Amino acid sequence: SGKWSKVMDLLNEFEEKCGTPTSQLSQVAEAMRVEMDAGLAAEGGSKLKMLITYVDNLPTGDEKGLFYALDLGGTNFRVLRALLGGKEKGIVKRESEELSIPPHLMVGNSRALFDFMASALAKFIATEGEDIELPPGRQRELGFTFSFPIRQISIASGTLIKWSKGFSIEDTVGEDVVTKLTNAMGRIGLDVRVSALINDTVGTLAKGRYSNPDVIAAVILGTGTNAAYVERASAIPKLQDLLPKSGEMVINMEWGNFLSSHLPLTEYDQSLDADSLNPGEQIYEKLISGMYLGEIVRRVLYRMAKEAALFGDIVPPKLKIPFIIRSQDMSAMHHDMSSDLEVVDKRLKNILEITESSLKIRRLVVKVCDIVATRGARLAASGIFAIVKKLGRDAVEDGEKLQKSVIAVDGALFEHYTKFRNCLESTLQELLGEAYKNISVELSNDGSGIGAALLAASHSQYL
Ligand code: ADP
Ligand code: MG
Repeated sequence: SGKWSKVMDLLNEFEEKCGTPTSQLSQVAEAMRVEMDAGLAAEGGSKLKMLITYVDNLPTGDEKGLFYALDLGGTNFRVLRALLGGKEKGIVKRESEELSIPPHLMVGNSRALFDFMASALAKFIATEGEDIELPPGRQRELGFTFSFPIRQISIASGTLIKWSKGFSIEDTVGEDVVTKLTNAMGRIGLDVRVSALINDTVGTLAKGRYSNPDVIAAVILGTGTNAAYVERASAIPKLQDLLPKSGEMVINMEWGNFLSSHLPLTEYDQSLDADSLNPGEQIYEKLISGMYLGEIVRRVLYRMAKEAALFGDIVPPKLKIPFIIRSQDMSAMHHDMSSDLEVVDKRLKNILEITESSLKIRRLVVKVCDIVATRGARLAASGIFAIVKKLGRDAVEDGEKLQKSVIAVDGALFEHYTKFRNCLESTLQELLGEAYKNISVELSNDGSGIGAALLAASHSQYL
C-alpha cells in the first residue's frame, strides 16, 4: 500500500544518511587526528580536550598490598577492594559491591551524591572480614574512578568540567571532586586517602597494561564512549615544563565530544541532541554509545508510526516515551535468529505494547537496528584507527618485525552486542589493511574498578 511505500522511503532515506563508506571513515579519522593535535597543542584548542591525566607510569605488575576503588560514572556505582600480590601472585583477591545511584541524586546537589558514595564505602569497609588486614599504622588508599571530564593538576585532584550521561548537578561543575569526596568521608569519620583520580578509560588502560605490555590505548563502549592512550611527552606541547621522567603521559581524549562535518548526522540525531541534557555536546558519543543507540531507533520508528502508520492508525503511546528502547533491547532484536522473529515480537509487545506485528514489520525493526548499530560501530572503529595512525602503529614495513599493538576495550555494549563488536573489528581491518595483523582489539573487563585500585597502588604514599 501507499503507507508501506512511505515507510520504505523513510527507511531508505535514513539508511542513505547513515552511510559510512570507507573513504568517509578515513576522513573522519583524519579529522580526529587533526583535532587530537590541536587539543594537545593548547588547552581549549579543540573539541577534543585531550586531557593530561598525570598518569605517567602505568602499573607494571609489581604492585603489592590492599587497595580500594570507587567507580562512579557508569550505570552502577561500585565499591571495590583488591589485594595485589606482585609479579608472581597477581591479583590475589578482588571483592566488590554494586549499587545503583538513585536517580534523584544524579540531578540533585553535590553533597547528597558524595555523601552517598562515602557512606557506601564506609559500609563496605565496616563489614570487612578478619582476613582483610592493613599493615599497622597505614592509611587505607583508594583510586577514585570518576568518569566525567575533569581538569587535573595532579594525579589526585581535578575539577569537573561538565557532566554527561544523564548526570547534571550544577554545583559540582568547577569543583575538585577529590576534595568533595574527602570532605564527605570526613563528615562520617572515614579515614581513606584518595591516591589517584582517574576515569574509566584510564583505568581500562592501566588494567590492560598490567595484564599485557602491548596495550597502547583503551576504549570504553558502554553507556558512554571515550578513549585514552599513551602519548610521547614530546608530542604534547601543552605539557610545557612538566616533563615526566618516563617520557610518556596518558592522555584522556574525551573523544565523545568529537565533532566533524564528516560525521553522518541525520535529523533524528539532531532532534535527539536538541532534547538531551547536553545539547551540542558529545555528538560522537550520541552516535555510538549504549545510552543513545536504542533512542535513535525509537525516533526512527516513531516517525514511521506517525507519518506512515507503521503500527496501524494510532501511534503506540509507549513509542512516544524517550529512551524506552534500550540498547539491550535493540541488541536482542538485532540478534533474533528465529524464522518468525519471535524475540522482536516479544520486545515490541513488552516494551511498546504493540500486540500484533507482521513479519514484514519485525524485519523492518531489525533493519533499523542494523543501520544504527552499524553506523555506531564503524564510527568507533574510525576513532581507533585515528589513534593507531597518530602513534604510527599502522606501518607495514618489510623485514623488521613490527611491534604488536593492543587496544583494551571495556563496556557492556562491546562485550554483549556481538554484531556491534564484529562490525567494529571488521571495519578496523578494512581501514588498516595489511597493518591489521599487528593490531588487536581485546575485551578488558573491569578497568574502572581494578584499574583504579592498581593506579592507587602505583601512586601509593608508601612507595
Ligand atoms: P557503564 O558504561 O555504564 O560503566 P557498562 O559497561 O555495563 O557500564 O555499560 C552499560 C551500558 O551498555 C548500558 O547502559 C547499555 O547501554 C549497554 N548494554 C548493556 N548490555 C547490553 C547488551 N546486551 N546489548 C547492548 N548494549 C548493552
Ligand atoms: Mg563502566
